[in-house]
Amino acid sequence: MKKRMSKGKKIRHRAGRRRRRIGFICAACLAGALAVSACKIVWQGHDRQVKKAQNSVKTSDNTLLEDLAVPLTSIKDMDAGTVIQPEKLNLEQSSLYFSVQEIDEDVFQYINGKSYTENDNISLQDLRYLKVLHYNYDHKIQVGELIVNKKIADDCSHIFMELFAQEYEIQSMYLIDRFWVGNGVDSDTVSIENNNTSAFNYRVVPGSDHLSNHAGGCAVDLNPLQNPYVKYKKDGTFDKYYKDMEKYLERDSNEPHMITHEDPAYQIFTKYGFTWGGDWQSSKDYQHFEKK
Ligand SMILES: [Zn+2]
Repeated sequence: MKKRMSKGKKIRHRAGRRRRRIGFICAACLAGALAVSACKIVWQGHDRQVKKAQNSVKTSDNTLLEDLAVPLTSIKDMDAGTVIQPEKLNLEQSSLYFSVQEIDEDVFQYINGKSYTENDNISLQDLRYLKVLHYNYDHKIQVGELIVNKKIADDCSHIFMELFAQEYEIQSMYLIDRFWVGNGVDSDTVSIENNNTSAFNYRVVPGSDHLSNHAGGCAVDLNPLQNPYVKYKKDGTFDKYYKDMEKYLERDSNEPHMITHEDPAYQIFTKYGFTWGGDWQSSKDYQHFEKK
């Protein structure tokens, strides 16, 4: 979607220029020992620069790192997948970085003809676009995005805020459209193969002709590679949908990122009234949380 230079980058560049300028002025001052009057003028400039810089720095050692003193107030314009240094965030007010917005023209253009097609069941007005922060698998803070039904939008925003507060790791959160290969079911498979967390996708349940709860934006799939969908046959065997899914069928193996009843994701989603696909009887969908 929008490719804008982040505010963080702009601020860093500005601070870099200031550091270079101050270094130049100090050198000029040394030379100024041979030219006192010239030096006086330069020192006045030097004082102004240092005072200005000190005003903008909050660190104890007077480091001239202006950017450290300017935390981001919003991440709305930052692309999903952007990694942000914790110093750039006001983590005591992390709710600043969780937003719920109506589907604007940019998002509409991005999803139209892909995850969204005009239909009789769900309109754009029923959907909301969420920006969130999450920890990725390298435990770095990353921007995520999600489209859900407006009925669960505030719940989802709070859920991801609570997961973030617990430093819960989610590999990535991009709209399913990033992985679009022509239809909703196959695009979902590509999203899963990339271990992407997603929600809205106007599609049917794989292997059927009825709409998935993802089609209404009422379901979220979390870290799908470690939390596969398993449809068991009568003889106890199952269809293999994804690479290495066998590895994650033993749910008490304590492999990282597997959702269990003890996992914060299960506890937080169910606290907000969601049900978990890991509790289904006929099949298991360990990545899936939904609220009707
Ligand atoms: Zn699902």
